[in-house]
Amino acid sequence: MQIHSDFDLSSVLWFRIGGKARYFLQCKNRDDIFKALDYFEKQHPNRLLLCGQGSNLIFADDYFDGMVIQILAGDEKLQVSFTEELATAFAGEQLDSLIQLSLHNKLIGLEWAGGLPGTVGAGVRGNVGAFGGEVKDRLVAAEVLEFDDKNVDVIEMKNEDFHFSYRHSVVKEKKNMIVTKAQFELSPANTEELVKARSTYAANIDYRKTHHPLEYPNCGSVFKNIKNPEDVEKILKVWPDIKNLVEEKWYGKVSMGYINTRLGFKGYTIGNAKVSEKHANFINNLGGATAQDVLTIIKHIQDMVEETFAIVPEVEVEIVS
Ligand SMILES: Cc1cc2nc3c(=O)[nH]c(=O)nc-3n(C[C@H](O)[C@H](O)[C@H](O)COP(=O)(O)OP(=O)(O)OC[C@H]3O[C@@H](n4cnc5c(N)ncnc54)[C@H](O)[C@@H]3O)c2cc1C
Repeated sequence: MQIHSDFDLSSVLWFRIGGKARYFLQCKNRDDIFKALDYFEKQHPNRLLLCGQGSNLIFADDYFDGMVIQILAGDEKLQVSFTEELATAFAGEQLDSLIQLSLHNKLIGLEWAGGLPGTVGAGVRGNVGAFGGEVKDRLVAAEVLEFDDKNVDVIEMKNEDFHFSYRHSVVKEKKNMIVTKAQFELSPANTEELVKARSTYAANIDYRKTHHPLEYPNCGSVFKNIKNPEDVEKILKVWPDIKNLVEEKWYGKVSMGYINTRLGFKGYTIGNAKVSEKHANFINNLGGATAQDVLTIIKHIQDMVEETFAIVPEVEVEIVS
């Protein structure tokens, strides 16, 4: 485990935004996580935050007077093992590496996550999903550490113990749980199935390259799409022309990318942060953007949406202030 003091978070987080943290602990394997928790117990920092690749975090520009524990594997051999149809991965491995190694072992079932940034541990915590797949569909069990400032309990949690729902799990609710490893049930594939799975995986990556502004650091979708029927009704009252699209094409939802585009936010810029021209639910860091730039854009969009439809769009990304 590596310990850094007064560490510049913007140098490691996906968005390249964030101030300094008093302590930054890098955990590259399971043992490191136990060492980090020992250190946490000794230092008693004011605050503790976990991160993986930081692809879903906006860290404030101010000094973070606490401890950030990063769980992210290094470049050494992948910490993933296979027993027949089960793949067990260290939480700090990237989801994408797990998919690639599984395909290499002729096991399929995670291709929906092709190109989705982030670690296995954060993926379990947030029940990440894309293209109709979700972590909960394949997760069998995970090892989770539940800790306070004196004890660490090692718990084996089965799929049902996570109470998964849309981008949610019990780990997200409790702030004192760390996913350390996760086991997925995959499907053995014959040659034809494997070719199909590889092509789905590649197509999903291509889709992201075409539709998402991957050329800039960002934090993925900033707002949750509007799916509460009452809220959708409020939008339809103002924009009746999209009724058919909502009912027939958008599965009852209205995407925040559409709303932001129609409200004229494409290209909207504050400082060095800009609403993407490619996908208006993304905010790009053009280089040197501050959290304040991004938060100002978020607030402006929320105000405008509220003024227009009397609803406040919920933020999907996690803001650490
Ligand atoms: C370009 C782009 C596209 C994206 N597309 C999608 C998408 O299609 N679908 C989707 O669901 N998400 C998407 N996201 C969001 C992001 O990929 C996920 O939220 C991912 O799980 C974040 O992983 P991370 O390792 O970067 O976690 P971080 O952003 O570092 O952390 C996210 C949260 O997880 C917690 N955490 C991290 N590791 C652990 C652990 N081991 N145990 C417990 N808690 C932990 C952190 O404390 C934090 O609260 C996208 C993001 C980007 C930038």
